[in-house]
Amino acid sequence: MKQTSHYLSAALVCAAVCLVGCGPKRAVTTRPTEEPMSLEAAMKLIDTRPDWIGSYPAIIIPRHPAEKFLKGVTIVLDPGHGMSDGNSVEKDPTYKRGPTGVREDDINLRVGLLLHRLLKDAGANVILTRDRDMYLGLKERADIANSAIRPDGGVGADLFISIHHNAVNNPVANYTSVWYHGQVDDAETGLDAARYIAHRLGAAMRTDVGKTSPLLSDQLMYPGGFGVLRACEVPGILLECSFYTQHEEEQRLRDAGYNLREAYAIYEGLCEWAYGGRPTQLTPSVAFSPVGGNQVRLATTLDERLPDWWGRDRTRILQSSVRVNINGKPVPHDFDPVTKQLTATFTLPSRGEPGTTMAIDLEIHFSNMFKHANHPQRYVVEVQPQDWSLTIRPQRVKQARAAATRPASVPATMNVN
Ligand SMILES: [Zn+2]
Repeated sequence: MKQTSHYLSAALVCAAVCLVGCGPKRAVTTRPTEEPMSLEAAMKLIDTRPDWIGSYPAIIIPRHPAEKFLKGVTIVLDPGHGMSDGNSVEKDPTYKRGPTGVREDDINLRVGLLLHRLLKDAGANVILTRDRDMYLGLKERADIANSAIRPDGGVGADLFISIHHNAVNNPVANYTSVWYHGQVDDAETGLDAARYIAHRLGAAMRTDVGKTSPLLSDQLMYPGGFGVLRACEVPGILLECSFYTQHEEEQRLRDAGYNLREAYAIYEGLCEWAYGGRPTQLTPSVAFSPVGGNQVRLATTLDERLPDWWGRDRTRILQSSVRVNINGKPVPHDFDPVTKQLTATFTLPSRGEPGTTMAIDLEIHFSNMFKHANHPQRYVVEVQPQDWSLTIRPQRVKQARAAATRPASVPATMNVN
């Protein structure tokens, strides 16, 4: 009886799914020209699995089924270095070169050009900071992302990706790392993309994953982080795909086919990132409470930015992730999962000095069911002394991160062998 009801409920679920999701069916086969493989033969395949490092499958670069979610996403690709970074190579002929002289800036450019093509084909609004061997300052690179015009008319790229390859005075080190700026709490949106890219890159390039964290803060290297990420006012990450100082890897990196593996892995990571949505919210309304005093009421509507999939009528926002901070301190809030309305009330110690404009830092954090964080997360609320009105504007990422600088520890590359 129990089994019957199980089958019945399974059939009901199936019917319900078909009501909303079934169109005309196409025959789906995995191995269309052969007899079905036996379980025994499938087990035998597992017996003959190749080793991890050094075994590269044939290059296949099909269009990712989720690439449609990249349509209209503004991504700035920054192939690192170029023209051997001004006169650095004149001072040091080995500057950014592998053991046999392969140049990092050339590798970065090939990966960038290939990735540009893959993302353009997917419909992304993709911009290269350089498409040839040329010198470009770090701030100039970041400013291309900061001033990028999005298809929605807004200013600032959705994501900035600086493409690099790593070096260390250790001939065997070869792992993949993706770097974010500052503290994890200040880099939530960039980290959402970084996770997918780091996993895909390490697997595609067969690097020695697990030697260190695939995600690292740039403040582990320098107290102020990497110059290019510091200057970046939009979500930004820096890839160190592998080590050109490792002999075999240097030779692989000369090959545009290998560079295509890298570009394709980043593309796959970006498809998967875009698939999970990029949450945001309406610009919050803020006003002093009509009851008087210094009480402020805030209201906004959260948007998980996921398609109208079946299940859209249930909340797809993790309620435990919703947080409102005023001047760095959490304040009580209410979130209605049905209307997606977020409200908070907080009391200011004063309305500021007469004749001066008082500024308040406001942060709103939440994640959708893919654990993708919202953007923007930070605003400046100003109290105007003339009429006690409140104004609100988004804070650029850089301003919010300035206070978060921590001292550098031992460079991560030095810990690894
Ligand atoms: Zn580099």
